[in-house]
Amino acid sequence: MISISELKTVLATPQKIVITTHHKPDGDAMGSSLGLYAYLIQKGHHVTVITPTDYPDFLHWLPNNSNVIIYTEAEEQAVQLVNDAQLIFCCDFNTLNRINELGEHIRNAPGLKLMIDHHLEPEDFDDYRHWNINACAAAQLVYDFIVNELNDGGLINKDVATCLYTGIMTDSGSFRFPSATSTVYRIAADLIDLGAEHWRIHQLVYDNASENRLRFLGHCLSNKLDILREFNTAIITVTAEELKAYNIATGDTEGIVNYALSINGIKLAAFIIERTDKVKLSLRSTGDFPANEICKKYFNGGGHRNAAGGASDKNLMDTVAQFKSILPEYKSQLLQ
Ligand code: 5GP
Ligand code: MN
Repeated sequence: MISISELKTVLATPQKIVITTHHKPDGDAMGSSLGLYAYLIQKGHHVTVITPTDYPDFLHWLPNNSNVIIYTEAEEQAVQLVNDAQLIFCCDFNTLNRINELGEHIRNAPGLKLMIDHHLEPEDFDDYRHWNINACAAAQLVYDFIVNELNDGGLINKDVATCLYTGIMTDSGSFRFPSATSTVYRIAADLIDLGAEHWRIHQLVYDNASENRLRFLGHCLSNKLDILREFNTAIITVTAEELKAYNIATGDTEGIVNYALSINGIKLAAFIIERTDKVKLSLRSTGDFPANEICKKYFNGGGHRNAAGGASDKNLMDTVAQFKSILPEYKSQLLQ
């Protein structure tokens, strides 16, 4: 590990920098990465954001989005940039398997690796770590890193503020999860003062659905919602055929699981979806129920206590059956 003063010395002269974030980036992944990008370019660094995969259209308005390189669409260029980088920032993830093939390239790259993250159980691959599981978003940690570690709060301009506000807003469920502490509200207020147009950001992220997405949501809620009252659990299951029929794109399924959790009395919600290569699970829970434990123990995944994910090599129906078979083990916690 290197110290903050060593890092400050490195950052005092222009560096070649790569910023990367997790597979299928969400608002926090892109907000923290592009917020850090908008800060670093002001210091004369040569910076590239590389995502392992594509990400939802509703994040494409973010400042400097047009400079992002998507690994799956430009592998050679991405690998070259990773190998040439003197610094590699890893935002919003902490195990290299979260970034697919890009992970091994980063593990083997000669540059310093810096983790800025808020997930449990970080893997030991980094040279510098700004990590706190109590942070509501990686974007909150980027803010803290710039303001309190690097003493560079003066460089939080409108672009940085806009990106960081987006990350904090999306990962805190629009400032409603327990992780949205008074400190988070103070940071949000500061970001608004520094140029983040909160009303516009909210509109661009949440009131920007395609017609397909809304009709698909209606289909999921009317036809695909299975409520297991005996376990206070709700499950929405989606087949590959349905995804095709509604022409569902990356990001269109995001947030649907939260509707299942919004039902009175429901403590655990699962969105189980048949992707081309595997079946993916998204879990959400309320209170102390550990959704991440189920993902880690049974579905090769993880995440936060109330928002977690994983995958299965079984087919869709077998995965749903497996998920249901796990519920009795958690019955007392689900009925508490
Ligand atoms: P989502 O359900 O929105 O895909 O993911 C919610 C959270 O669960 C993410 O922020 C991430 O922390 C975690 N997560 C989702 N999928 C995986 C996975 O496959 N592996 C791990 N370790 N965590 C995941
Ligand atoms: Mn996050």
